[in-house]
Amino acid sequence: MSIRRKKIVAGNWKMNGTISSLDQIRQLCDLIKNDSFEVIVCPPATLLSQAIAIVKNSAVTIGSQNCHEKNSGAYTGEVSPEMLADLGVQVVILGHSERRENNFETSKLIQDKAKASHESQLTTIICIGETEEQKNNGHTINVIKKQLDHSLPKTTNAENTIIAYEPIWAIGSGKTLSADDIKQVHKTLRTHIKTITTSEIAAKMRILYGGSVNSDNCYEILNIEDVDGALVGGASLSAISFSSIINSTGES
Ligand code: PEP
Repeated sequence: MSIRRKKIVAGNWKMNGTISSLDQIRQLCDLIKNDSFEVIVCPPATLLSQAIAIVKNSAVTIGSQNCHEKNSGAYTGEVSPEMLADLGVQVVILGHSERRENNFETSKLIQDKAKASHESQLTTIICIGETEEQKNNGHTINVIKKQLDHSLPKTTNAENTIIAYEPIWAIGSGKTLSADDIKQVHKTLRTHIKTITTSEIAAKMRILYGGSVNSDNCYEILNIEDVDGALVGGASLSAISFSSIINSTGES
């Protein structure tokens, strides 16, 4: 029996956006014409509260780009999963390559953050991906399997966890992996998730592709077998470009 997985288009605004940018979220809510996707927008922490109010009664869900692994305490400048959930945030991106690299986040730390997020009923988007050097040396599969092994907590299930495979060299570069390679990597990831969790969880788990997804390449990417959606950076900043990704794709 084949399992249907609802596809997701998630936007990561990174450190972009001020109060005037909330208009993009207002416009996005009006522009979405396709309800076959779950739509998630992850603005910076400063805009979360207002963004949540804007998307009420719309098809859009608001996510955070990070959280701490503890729920409270002497951690100046941090935001906890409990605080996010209290605000009405439903999703959190964890282990984005920019955080792994710039903030020295390890897979073990991502695992602790994911466990704490699940305990606060947040859905985690756990990012994995290889560098260009690792790809050129033929290490892609080993690298991303290891990241998965150490990033997924025991609390992982197909409802509270989404995987985002993002080749680091493809992020913001305009380069993407070929459709055949994306298919192969996603298939391998699903098989590997089975060994970490169960066959049922692996079959239901959504695996997103990320890295320079835009309105020109989204149709092909979103229709690749085992690709259950996209994590979008640059093209999610404008309601017009993000909605064109959501509206142009449809069901495979
Ligand atoms: C990202 O940062 O997760 C990303 C995929 O960015 P972009 O779409 O801009 O490559």
